[in-house]
Amino acid sequence: MSHQCCNLYVDLKSHIQRINFIPMVREILRFPHPILKKPTKKVDVIDREIRELVRDMFETMYHSEGVGLAANQIGVDLQVMVIDTTPRKESPPLKLVLINPEVIHSEGSLNYKEGCLSFPGLVVEVERNSKIQFKALDLEGEERTYELEGFPAIVFQHEMDHLMGITFLDRIKGLKKRLALERYAKLQKQRV
Ligand SMILES: [Zn+2]
Repeated sequence: MSHQCCNLYVDLKSHIQRINFIPMVREILRFPHPILKKPTKKVDVIDREIRELVRDMFETMYHSEGVGLAANQIGVDLQVMVIDTTPRKESPPLKLVLINPEVIHSEGSLNYKEGCLSFPGLVVEVERNSKIQFKALDLEGEERTYELEGFPAIVFQHEMDHLMGITFLDRIKGLKKRLALERYAKLQKQRV
């Protein structure tokens, strides 16, 4: 009897764990949501909540076919970003979890037509650094230094901007910006 009871307990426990570890697709906030314009806060402790956040960020990013996502894009005010360039041919596969990232050095320049999951359908040509060196914590809390070049460097800079409350529209000016805003307004109307 007690043996059956024990099995039941083990079954129930694994069932609960399975439920808890199912990644969730969370809602991506769209411009002009105010949280996208606010700098995010540093992560103090990498606990279960952060691990779940990262897991859901990957799931949400893959669901929308993105290659990078910042935590504030799903409404979480923390310095966490995920990157996975695997689906893109212009880059070798690179999957990163970056917590509290800090830029150490940047150089060169590169223009690239970028998209953003918070501006669905909009493409904007932005000037970025072609090479970037930065440090960040990984999910184990280890500080690592990275050097990226080309497409992955662009993805990193785009997400780093998000964490600082900056969107790609803040990287363009004048007529280019006005036209991008008009295109975005039209795209928003088509969605309604
Ligand atoms: Zn974006």
